[in-house]
Amino acid sequence: MFLPTSCPVCGARGPAPCAGCAADLRRAPPLPAPPGVDSCGALLAYDGAGRELVARLKYRNARSAVPFLARGMASVAPPGVDVVTWAPTTPARRRARGFDQAQVLARAVARRLGVPCRPMLRRAAGPAQTGRGAEARYAGPIFHARRRADGWRVLLVDDVVTTGATVAAAARALREAGAAEVHVAAAARTPPSRRNVHSVLSATRRQLWK
Ligand SMILES: [Zn+2]
Repeated sequence: MFLPTSCPVCGARGPAPCAGCAADLRRAPPLPAPPGVDSCGALLAYDGAGRELVARLKYRNARSAVPFLARGMASVAPPGVDVVTWAPTTPARRRARGFDQAQVLARAVARRLGVPCRPMLRRAAGPAQTGRGAEARYAGPIFHARRRADGWRVLLVDDVVTTGATVAAAARALREAGAAEVHVAAAARTPPSRRNVHSVLSATRRQLWK
């Protein structure tokens, strides 16, 4: 079946993204992995065209760019992972949007890698990260493991890594469930800000010592 697509950035019919917008995309900045994460690969810098591409996936359910993003995210993942999972959004968000963009990306990445995609985390009810105050964001949401992951090398997929607090919290729950390694593949990562990096490090350190 032929499904016409359009570029989620500029709306032009054809490939998603179109060649012009693809040329405007910038690679994610290399940043250290958040605490508890073995490696953190991201495809795009979350600004300009990259921000449009990923934000529309999140807010307008524009899935035309999912194959493009999944191909790139699979290329930043380390070889040999056993399972792909995702950091779920809040149940309220999921109900409101009708889907979880991280899950959509995780399924597509898993297909490309040829490994299973499994729901492994449950997110405690609470406000979404977007719109929360700085302190609450750095502390991160609370995740619980839905199953054991003994000895597994897990690839955790998320759409955007900002402070790293969300993936650090998810990695912590996966390790408590027995995961041997937790790697992150994100569609985008925000450009580095010293305040962000410093705050997430101290917030996750506080969590780890609790
Ligand atoms: Zn375009």
